[in-house]
Amino acid sequence: MAKSVVGGNVHEFDSELYGETIAQFDRVGELIGLDDNLAARLRVPQRAMVVSFPFRRDDYSDVDTVFGYRVQHVLSMGPTKGGVRYAADVNLGEVAALAMLMTWKCAIVGLPFGGAKGGVRIDPTGLSKPEKQRITRRYISEIMPFIGPNKDIPAPDMGTDEQTMAWMMDTYSQNVGYSVPAIVTGKPPALGGSIARREATGRGVMSLLPTAAARIGMPVEGARVVVHGFGNVGQYAALAARQMGCLVVGISDISGGVYRSTGLDVEAAMAWVAEHRSLEGYEGGDRISNEELLELDCEVLVPAALSGVITGANAGRVNAKIVLEGANGPTTSEADAILADQGVMVVPDVLANAGGVTASYFEWVQDLQNYFWSENEIVARLREIMNKAFSEVLDVADRDGVDLRTAALIKGIRRVASAKLARGVFP
Ligand code: NAD
Repeated sequence: MAKSVVGGNVHEFDSELYGETIAQFDRVGELIGLDDNLAARLRVPQRAMVVSFPFRRDDYSDVDTVFGYRVQHVLSMGPTKGGVRYAADVNLGEVAALAMLMTWKCAIVGLPFGGAKGGVRIDPTGLSKPEKQRITRRYISEIMPFIGPNKDIPAPDMGTDEQTMAWMMDTYSQNVGYSVPAIVTGKPPALGGSIARREATGRGVMSLLPTAAARIGMPVEGARVVVHGFGNVGQYAALAARQMGCLVVGISDISGGVYRSTGLDVEAAMAWVAEHRSLEGYEGGDRISNEELLELDCEVLVPAALSGVITGANAGRVNAKIVLEGANGPTTSEADAILADQGVMVVPDVLANAGGVTASYFEWVQDLQNYFWSENEIVARLREIMNKAFSEVLDVADRDGVDLRTAALIKGIRRVASAKLARGVFP
């Protein structure tokens, strides 16, 4: 068991997701005999920043106070890297947990980054474009001393997109006086953003399906796929699934789900969301609830929205053979155990959705060198990195007789631990 932090246990980061993430880390730490001092060090983020700032609504006299966060978990691996989330319930504990997951994710796929994450506690769905722009510019101004192309590089996550990244890049650049494209990834290509970054996470998730399916002797062609969350990750995962010959029978977002046993028209659903901002009113199938969607009879379930959606309460009713985790932390530890008992293969978030940060890494490298790669090069390198990481994780799983989440974490935690040991303690 890891020793505690001087001054007692840490409550600053208390949250459900942090608890889950620490429990996973402790379990794997114990399994690999992780050094006690190192385990205690890695349980808490190295830097965590909380900011509050005024936010003027479009109604000029209406000013709210908004909270923002940026957490950097480990600074020993290189600059830190991680998305920024805009959501009504973002808190320091959730952001800290997501930063820790980013550390393992980068280590699992072999990227030269430590993990970071950011968030602004506001519901983005009701914001006008000018309101979102003001929030973004002020948030970045507040965390300016903390970020930089060689320090910490933000990216999109829930509630943020290419346009948000463009405002972040512009705000940082205006402040330093010259253009710094490498300050964020997930930008529009016109600003040095990478072609294919938008599709990378969803595509990366699905790129693991052939290997996962082969392991259980399941054909990919005609496999029924259900996608929970139809944003950036979910849409491109669904599209990739269709392109691989799967049948996407269910999709959902915050407005609820849509089901069609003969397969949904993914492109039409994407076009609907692009125009109406959600699946509300989309009539390409039968309307169902998000709860029903997660329990649909299918071969592949892709959670691609929130954390903690597959829990002890519903895992027993998950009717998939493979769960590909597009979202971060969608499955609780309790649910993991139930799914394992049912023989469901879970390809964990830290591996399955690593395509996003891998494409971000490519974008950052291209920005630093001012030399841009072709789409084919990007797609081929992404596929190669994802498949190599998956096959290494499968080797650990087979060698140690553990599930894929444990195997992936063993690989990630070992890499970070050896780097920290090599660097030593300062001073
Ligand atoms: P997004 O904001 O583009 O999409 C989120 C989707 O989830 C939307 O369709 C939204 O309506 C839906 N949603 C929100 N609340 C819901 C609810 N209660 N029930 C059902 N659906 C709900 O976000 P995204 O970038 O696609 O991120 C989705 C997940 O993937 C997050 O967990 C994120 O951390 C993770 N992720 C994203 C990336 C990336 O590159 N964008 C990379 C790795 C992991």
